[in-house]
Amino acid sequence: MHSPEELTQRFREVGLKVTPQRQAVFRVLYQNHTHPSAETVYEQVAEQMPTISLRTVYQTLNDLTDMGEILHLDLGTGSARFDSNVEHAHHHLVCEGCGLVRDVEADLDSLKFNETLPSGFLVSETEILVRGQCEHCLAQDQNRRSQDQHSKAGA
Ligand SMILES: [Zn+2]
Ligand SMILES: [Zn+2]
Repeated sequence: MHSPEELTQRFREVGLKVTPQRQAVFRVLYQNHTHPSAETVYEQVAEQMPTISLRTVYQTLNDLTDMGEILHLDLGTGSARFDSNVEHAHHHLVCEGCGLVRDVEADLDSLKFNETLPSGFLVSETEILVRGQCEHCLAQDQNRRSQDQHSKAGA
């Protein structure tokens, strides 16, 4: 994704309007590796700019996606996530507990489909989605489990 200054320029070049609200969306997304949802972007922008509407955030995210500045991802977390890392091809890891999303890299050169790929099928892209539990969610789970044991032992 281009810098907020460059995006301002590009939006004007293609005739899209640039408002302080839209520029605040650019700033929240720039070099942001958390893959936020539209709601998260909205909350972060609203902290500095309470007049922004969720609709403006959606519209700006759509425009940025159309321009190839960000990626619109469906990672099965319930809401679309937006990724400003369009420079480097990568895969994703998702925590099923808290919805954390991180970029991961994988070596797919040795990937084999074991003849299940229909003949004549030309693969354009292969994506890996790693699901699991992050450190934080695992620790919470363990705490909960040990509290359950304590309360059972006390009873
Ligand atoms: Zn988690
Ligand atoms: Zn990503």
